[in-house]
Amino acid sequence: MRLRRSKTPPPQVNPTPTADPLRIAVLEHDLLGIQPQSGTAAALCIALRRTGACLQHDPIDVTTLGTPVRQALCSRCGTAMVDDDKGGWLIP
Ligand SMILES: [Zn+2]
Repeated sequence: MRLRRSKTPPPQVNPTPTADPLRIAVLEHDLLGIQPQSGTAAALCIALRRTGACLQHDPIDVTTLGTPVRQALCSRCGTAMVDDDKGGWLIP
């Protein structure tokens, strides 16, 4: 008994993954503070994150050694926060 082969070719796998320029632009904004050019997909992505996509901040501690104040970034919207000395986070 012979099985039929599917007519669709197998998906091509890119052997060398390339970085997504949109993701790079968003990371540059989040980590380095570089503003994307207005009218680009990166600017739209960042603007949409700030328009109600984050109903409750989900802080991630990003404090580095030598930093006098604990710092955090929201994993949903990228908002920077600082420690309020009461176990919570404040938006400066
Ligand atoms: Zn948030």
